[in-house]
Amino acid sequence: MNTSTPVDLRSFIADVPDFPKKGIVFKDITPLLADPRAFGAAIDAMAEPYRGKGIRLVAGIESRGFLFASAIARRLDAGIVLIRKKGKLPRKTLSVTYELEYGTDTLEVHEGAAAPGTPLLLVDDVLATGGTAKGACELIEKLGAKVAGVSFLIELGFLGGRKKLSGRDVRALIAY
Ligand code: AMP
Repeated sequence: MNTSTPVDLRSFIADVPDFPKKGIVFKDITPLLADPRAFGAAIDAMAEPYRGKGIRLVAGIESRGFLFASAIARRLDAGIVLIRKKGKLPRKTLSVTYELEYGTDTLEVHEGAAAPGTPLLLVDDVLATGGTAKGACELIEKLGAKVAGVSFLIELGFLGGRKKLSGRDVRALIAY
């Protein structure tokens, strides 16, 4: 295996038209997850800007965000915080409800999951309209923790999600 050649991460993302509903092009990341070199390169590149920056916790958004959060947390020698859909966490939670294209959704985190002032990196697979990540940032700030950065594997730039995260350190490895 030649590890010196850069990995073309884009070639490991499969476009699935009309999933989960007509008009949506779903970015399927499972080919990237299944390839050790591509997955490793993605995790290294997502973690790199935050090395030595004092990140204590990495928060992942259910569910694909968990895959990236746990691997990045190991690279940064940090712990993990789970941001989950309503009703999944067993202890007392804080919650945030945010707008979707049609209706609303709710995210939750365990109370006390991060001590006030803790520098935390938020991670998810895809930045689309930005509603989910914005809600997750609000939730982290309800804990009193500090959002030190927001990192995505993929950004769907044409949906303008970055605007919802203005003023934050937002990064994505692959932009469409
Ligand atoms: P949004 O709140 O619109 O930024 O949506 C972000 C969430 O929805 C992320 O957790 C993604 O996993 C998922 N998502 C949105 N659009 C797509 C897409 N086109 N392909 C794959 N996942 C998506």
